[in-house]
Amino acid sequence: QSELIKTNFQNQLAERGLENEIQVIHTGCFGFCEQGPIVKIQPDNTFYVSVSPDDTLEIIDEHVVKGRIVERLLYTDPNTKSQISESKNMDFYKKQVRIALRNCGFINPENIEEYIGNDGYSALGKCLDELSPEEAIKIIMDSGLRGRGGGGFPTGLKWDITRKVENEQKYVVCNADEGDPGAFMDRSILEGDPHTVIEAMAICGFCIGADKGLVYIRAEYPLAIQRLKTALKQAREFGLLGENILGSGFSFDIEIRYGAGAFVCGEETALIHSMEGKRGEPTFKPPFPSQEGYLGKPTNVNNVETFANIPPIINKGAAWFSTIGTEKSKGTKVFALAGKINNVGLIEVPMGTTLREVIYDIGGGIKNGRQFKSVQTGGPSGGCLTKDFLDTPIDYDNLLAAGSMMGSGGMIVMDEDDCMVSIAKFYLEFTLEESCGKCTPCRIGNKRLHEILEKITNGNGTPEDLTKLRMLSHVIKDTSLCGLGQTSPNPVLSTLDNFMDEYEAHVKEGK
Ligand code: SF4
Repeated sequence: QSELIKTNFQNQLAERGLENEIQVIHTGCFGFCEQGPIVKIQPDNTFYVSVSPDDTLEIIDEHVVKGRIVERLLYTDPNTKSQISESKNMDFYKKQVRIALRNCGFINPENIEEYIGNDGYSALGKCLDELSPEEAIKIIMDSGLRGRGGGGFPTGLKWDITRKVENEQKYVVCNADEGDPGAFMDRSILEGDPHTVIEAMAICGFCIGADKGLVYIRAEYPLAIQRLKTALKQAREFGLLGENILGSGFSFDIEIRYGAGAFVCGEETALIHSMEGKRGEPTFKPPFPSQEGYLGKPTNVNNVETFANIPPIINKGAAWFSTIGTEKSKGTKVFALAGKINNVGLIEVPMGTTLREVIYDIGGGIKNGRQFKSVQTGGPSGGCLTKDFLDTPIDYDNLLAAGSMMGSGGMIVMDEDDCMVSIAKFYLEFTLEESCGKCTPCRIGNKRLHEILEKITNGNGTPEDLTKLRMLSHVIKDTSLCGLGQTSPNPVLSTLDNFMDEYEAHVKEGK
């Protein structure tokens, strides 16, 4: 649709001789997926929603030529029923703070000059001109940025550890192997602002002493790959990648490696094995990748969203970043809202925003006027939280304490019609399918867990099965080798904790 809308605009503007006066730019995602395709008219910021290819002529003739807003294409506020023409006045955007997504939907991701025009590559320039690697790392450390891929490890500390390992060859790896069902944070950043990842990886290379970077990306992300390739080519042409960047003596370049969509390859040791051409299986840590990673060399692995935060932190400083968020979780977090929520889409909010604000104020509440039942945070191995947690401020520690986790940012909302036992079974099916099979608790234990859930949902469960479910879940958590197995029983445990009545009803009623 978007491609067709763009082509229609270009052809119709050309027919009117306006092709040199008005640019049609295909940007990255605006985040408000529920209302897409979106067309934004600049400089007046008019935000048209649910635009179809048939609407382009009217937008040109009415808005572009005559300066009259096409009211039928404006967003209608579901509460006040008033029409809103600028995104900043929409509830979906009001509480958002965009750092990682700052350029998505605003610039043409295939034009490096637009990125440069929005402060792009100035952070790299600042590092090369004014800062030592230690000073740049200190800024990242002081900012409080933690890894956005799920682990939440302090990014500056990780860089510092890798910098201190002595080796002539080191690597920077960007994990773009986003595998959570319903999650598309990293894909959107790469599609909407690929240069920010390239710039951040070069900064990381400068800080840790690496001259080579690798982006490990899912082969199922063709547009992200295409835009990344274009951005890499442009960065080389502009002397921002390659030998002797900006005459500084620092050299750095990036290659792309393709993943085949295995969820376990999001785990950094499995990811590195996959890049080396081996089976994508995790190995025991230590040694950590910062000591022995890609090809046995010190390797710093961060995910796309983590990298997207780096340039603004270098430019604006640690103090600016650390004023956003909570005491132990600084900055913002990108979430992919999915499930039974009115405003499906991609959002970025300050850490400390409550689940209620995300689901009701930004997400517009539950679809079709149904009642909220649960929200799953942290992807397939996160937990299902009840309405009792709606006022929990979102940060790494609060979500863990609530029995879930931050994960990479998937957020799936369930309503009163969803059976939570079936939901737990659904997530377990996913992790069972994605288990690499290397260790017994995960390979066999999850299979047994799944069999018990099948028995219960088929109406053949017994009260003893509920006890077994809990015991086996804890064994799997405690004895699995990697994060996949260690977290795979979370949906079972959190639904046992929060929705025991539904398990008991299955057992009691035999259905
Ligand atoms: Fe593989 Fe699961 Fe063991 Fe991880 S926990 S190594 S995914 S079998």
